[in-house]
Parts: sequence; structure tokens; C-alpha cells
Amino acid sequence: MKLIFERGFEGQALCLMPACDVPECTVEGFEREQELHLPHLSENELSRHYSEIAKRVHGVNDGFYPLGSCTMKYNPKINEEAAALPGFTGIHPLQGDKNTQGCLEVLDTIEKSLAEISGMDSVTLQPAAGAHGEFTGLMLIKSYLNSIGATERKKIIVPDSAHGTNPASAVMCGFEIVNIPSAPDGCVDLEALKGAVGEDTAGLMLTNPNTVGVFDKNILEITKIVHDAGGLCYYDGANLNAVMGVVRPGDMGFDCIHFNLHKTFSTPHGGGGPGSGPVGCKAFLAPFLPGIRVGRKPCGCYKSEKAEQSFGEVKAFGGNFLVVVKALTYILTLGKEGIPEAAKNAVLNANYMQACLKEDFDLAYDVICMHEFVLTLDRLHKETGISALDLAKGLLDNGIHPPTMYFPLIVHEALMIEPTETEPKEMMDEAIAVFKELKRLAYEEPQVLHDAPVKTPVRRLDDVRAARTPVLRYSFE
Ligand SMILES: *Cc1c(COP(=O)(O)O)cnc(C)c1O
Repeated sequence: MKLIFERGFEGQALCLMPACDVPECTVEGFEREQELHLPHLSENELSRHYSEIAKRVHGVNDGFYPLGSCTMKYNPKINEEAAALPGFTGIHPLQGDKNTQGCLEVLDTIEKSLAEISGMDSVTLQPAAGAHGEFTGLMLIKSYLNSIGATERKKIIVPDSAHGTNPASAVMCGFEIVNIPSAPDGCVDLEALKGAVGEDTAGLMLTNPNTVGVFDKNILEITKIVHDAGGLCYYDGANLNAVMGVVRPGDMGFDCIHFNLHKTFSTPHGGGGPGSGPVGCKAFLAPFLPGIRVGRKPCGCYKSEKAEQSFGEVKAFGGNFLVVVKALTYILTLGKEGIPEAAKNAVLNANYMQACLKEDFDLAYDVICMHEFVLTLDRLHKETGISALDLAKGLLDNGIHPPTMYFPLIVHEALMIEPTETEPKEMMDEAIAVFKELKRLAYEEPQVLHDAPVKTPVRRLDDVRAARTPVLRYSFE
């Protein structure tokens, strides 16, 4: 496919701007040294270019997308309609509280909803992604520990099944990482945790259900062990799809949580688009929150203010506001009944697929799962030479986006499958049939899978070269 700079020709241009009717001026010292490389395209060509790109990607609107841990659920179009309302798109954050009452009401309403769903007291909507939320939550923990003089608490405990962003965020906040192993059932090893906590413990970061899709039955004991040692408990709530409206992290003993609105709360993600990773916390951490805090004046009007001991800003103004509008639309559409129903259907769908695939593939953990489950293709690999990667490439030829691969790191040849609640049984049955057919190919015609994919716009890519020497700029030479 041609890149946009390789299309069109000099002289052909999309020029809808009226001629300049004021005197031109240059800002001295800031003049451009070279001509700008702008593509010369007509509107027609431009539109074709984007349509061509759109045909080459796979999204939830194209087909099944069971990317474990990422919750690629269908995003209802009404969310987009709400976010496109001119009252939201045409507003400027510096307009002042008087003119932005509606937006402040949105922030206040979603803050209250997320606090209720998670069992927390306050929420900031400023962070722009999950990892950004982790950073923000850990900064709250750090600010609190500093405020009580507990500066010797520098260590964050992270289980080996954690999402890679957890240790990365903790290091960015200046903490040291203590890794603890998981028990054979995928849950936290309580003895290892007891051995890891001490006077230098700042806290624990945990996902529950964890990344292998297992709900940790010892959760109350886990948070108690950390609290008794003087540490705080951080809940990685990026994926809240199994528990929203059913159980609350705040009731499990957690002090702080981040949500990925771009996973659980149905706003589109992938391709680096705008995300939102709000952070919820218990009241004792709230004075340190960043960003806008929405309060009420005696007249009942909304006002925006800062938290007393705020550790600073993590993004401008209210964060990715329109993503927040989409998530609020989703929450209000589902309501108190719909939210737990969505969670329960997500768990039902994952268990349905797990039960249907269990005869043909090995489960990493043979238990009732939550919103996702993990297959291990270790035996298939040894017996046929077909790896999880080969099978994933075979799925591509069948119009299915592969599940998350080689994660969590503790499972060999892992495929982590999360169908989500928005898939009908028919879709899952089709996908199950594809998985079974690929297994047959692995034993009978393995070359087909070694060659896959053959139906995609590009064949197998050199992942290592792409990661080590990425070409991110077009060379005009
Ligand atoms: C996706 C995810 C994250 C990170 O979220 P980003 O928005 O990609 O930064 C963290 N933890 C878990 C468990 C996740 O699934």
C-alpha cells in the first residue's frame, strides 16, 4: 500500500482555506528552515487513503477479538453520540465554572459512579491510561507515606503474574520492587507474602481476578497481611469486567485503584487512541489527588477546586474528557442492574469457551474462571512443533484476532482468551470450531500453520527487527 506521501502529485491539493486577508507576518527566529512536506491530495484521494487503511486493520467491528486482559468489548454507538454533543466538544476548560456547569456535573456524576462501583471515596479523572493511573495511585501512596514520615517505606510487592506496567510504574515513582511467586493455583503465595512484608513495605499491587483469570480466595487475608505490616494495598482495576457491580475492591481491603475506562467501561481502544485511567482512593488519600476536584457551592452550583495537598497535575484540566463522557453514557445506559449483568455474562462467556476448548487444549489452571482463561500450548508445541505464535497466525487467516500471547509470563506457550460479554454464543461457537480445526492442522498438516498467515495484507513480520530498529519517520530522500 502506498503511504500518503507517495500519493498525489505536485499541484493537486485539497485547499478549502480562504485566502489570507490580513497582513502576513513572521515571528523572528522561528521561521521554518525547510518547506513543509505536505501531501498533495484531492479530498477524494484522501478519503480513499483512509478507507484503505481502515480495511487493513481488525477491530471489534470487524470480527472476534478475544484479546485477554484487554477487554475488547463492543462500544455502543450511543456513547459516541453523547461525546459528539456540541456542548461537550465546543467547550474550553478555561471558560470558568459558571459556563461549564454541565461538564462539571459529568465529572461529578462519573466520579460518584466509579466510587460506588469500586467501594472508594474519591476519584480523579485526570490520568490518560492504565499505566498513567498506576503512576498516579502510587504517587498518592508515596505522598501519604511522606506525610506521616514513613519515608523508609520504599518497597512495592508485586506478584509474578502482574501486568508488566505494575513494576514499571512503581519504579517510575521511585519505589523498589519485591517480586513474589504465585502458588500453583495461580493465587498469591501467602507464605511468600508474609516473608516479603516488613518495615520497608510501602504497599502491594494486585489484580483480582488476576491475569490468569482466577479470583484470589484469600484476598481479605492478603490485604490484612499488608496492612498489618503498615503498607497500603493498590488494586490494578484495568480490567474490572468480571467484578463490576458484583464485588468491590474497596471491600476487599484495597486503598487505591485505577480503572481503564477504555477497557471495562466501553470506550474504544487500541492503536494508541485516547484512553482514560481514573484513580479511586479511600478518604485518607484524597487530600493528595491531582487535577480538578468538583465541589458544590452553597447555591448548589458546581465549582472546581484543587485538593489541599495535591501532589500536582498528571494531565491538563479534567483529563481526556470526551472519553469520560463515553464511559458515563455506558454506565448510565446499563445502570445498577446492567452493570453486574454485563460482568456475569463476561464470566459466563469465558467459562463457556473454556469448557468447550478444554477437551482439545490444556488449561493453565483448571478452575472455574472469571472473565478470561489461559491455555498452555506447551504439549502441542512439543508434540507437533506448532507454537502459540503459529496457532495465533492461523487464527488470523480465519478472521479472528489472536488472544493475548505469551502472557502471563509464568505460563509456557500461553494464549489468554477473553471473549467479553458482547459476543453472542454463535460467534464463540464459530471461534471454538476454528481452534479445533487449527489443532487438527497442527497434527496433520503443520506446514499450513508454519506458513500462516496467507490471507492478511502482510505475512509474518520480523517482530524483533520491528521492536529494535523501528522505522517511525518517512524519509523524503
Ligand atoms: C491494560 C492493563 C494495564 C495497562 O493499561 P494501559 O491503558 O495500557 O496503560 C494494566 N494492568 C492490567 C491488568 C491491564 O490489563
